[in-house]
Amino acid sequence: LTFLGIESSCDDSAAAILRDGPAAGRVLASVVRGQGALHAAFGGVVPEIAARAHAEVLDHCVEAALARAGVGLGDLDGIAVTAGPGLIGGVLAGVMTAKGLAAATGLPLWGVNHLAGHALTPRLTDDLAFPYLLLLVSGGHCQFLVVEGPDRFRRLGGTIDDAPGEAFDKVARILGLPQPGGPEVEREAATGNPRRIPLPRPLLDREGCDLSFSGLKTAVLRARDSLMSAHDGIMSGHDEIKSGQQTRVPSAHLSGHSDGQLSGQSGLRESDRRDLCAAFQAAVADILAEKTRRALALYRDAAPLRPAFAVAGGVAANAAIRSRLQAVCAAESVEFVAPPLALCTDNAAMIAWAALERARAGLGPDAAISARPRWPLDPSAAPMIGAGK
Ligand code: ATP
Ligand code: FE
Repeated sequence: LTFLGIESSCDDSAAAILRDGPAAGRVLASVVRGQGALHAAFGGVVPEIAARAHAEVLDHCVEAALARAGVGLGDLDGIAVTAGPGLIGGVLAGVMTAKGLAAATGLPLWGVNHLAGHALTPRLTDDLAFPYLLLLVSGGHCQFLVVEGPDRFRRLGGTIDDAPGEAFDKVARILGLPQPGGPEVEREAATGNPRRIPLPRPLLDREGCDLSFSGLKTAVLRARDSLMSAHDGIMSGHDEIKSGQQTRVPSAHLSGHSDGQLSGQSGLRESDRRDLCAAFQAAVADILAEKTRRALALYRDAAPLRPAFAVAGGVAANAAIRSRLQAVCAAESVEFVAPPLALCTDNAAMIAWAALERARAGLGPDAAISARPRWPLDPSAAPMIGAGK
């Protein structure tokens, strides 16, 4: 089977060609066009701009993927497209592109859950059997799932507020680093001291495997402010003026669009910034490691089979976090699987793969595909994000 995949749920336009076969050679081509530059001035992804850009470049992505794979439309057996969750305009642009291609070629169409794409990616490049425990850790999500089949996911726990990717992005903004923040914070952290600035590890002692990251993000903002005012004080000695300037940086910056403005005026010393990045990354790694240990214990109670653990999603591209999770698994004698970095962040190979998995299991094609802004993988588990706020 040869599948075309299309992805456009956030700010990456992507197309990929996948061919069923041994794990090592399945991805024939994977094209990803980011939109970072388009959104840079706004300090975040602007949905309307994203949707328009997807509509403009998706056809080119598809052409480029076909050309790179040396495959024609006539060689395809199916088309897979992200049908949600995500920014609705972008998802619609992808669904329309896919429906157009399907109508023109008569090829069957699969509407794929973006999160299922992330969740099944560990099986794309590894011989990993169902079931496995998954930590899905991305820009908008953080959850422990038991993956039982291509469309069977059981949620064990997850974040009660922010997703770690979102926290990486906010921390980058707070510290005047460009977006997406994850790779930038990781680069800074590599030469920073993770122990100099103390940061909290929310919910660490609580039972179960729910996680929390919003307090951590706020703590980074406070630490930055006190480092800046300490530095200002030393540099100029004008204390009254300094405390006046402090009010220039209200905590509202954490959630407001004005975050972006800080980058230019962030007067943080380079070494302070590196240490804050290192402290933040270490705190995230500690939280994920401890909660993974707890999720593994819960999972083992329920599934006495050979236990396997996989990590997926954009934050799984972080080397420090990967190696911490790998160490947890080694200590527990659990198999550890992490996809190649380029398949952790958004891509269309994972979308084609999720459809291929469903096709092989006799699931689909999907007669009717509609774009869904929200689409939990485990509908029986109430989504926690946004609840009670
Ligand atoms: P979701 O998949 O939850 O809908 P998304 O598709 O926007 O959200 P992904 O593309 O899966 O998210 O992941 C992007 C996120 O991963 C961003 O927040 C980015 O900062 C983060 N990220 C990418 N690389 C790294 C890294 N090396 N370290 C930490 N975070 C990273
Ligand atoms: Fe994603």
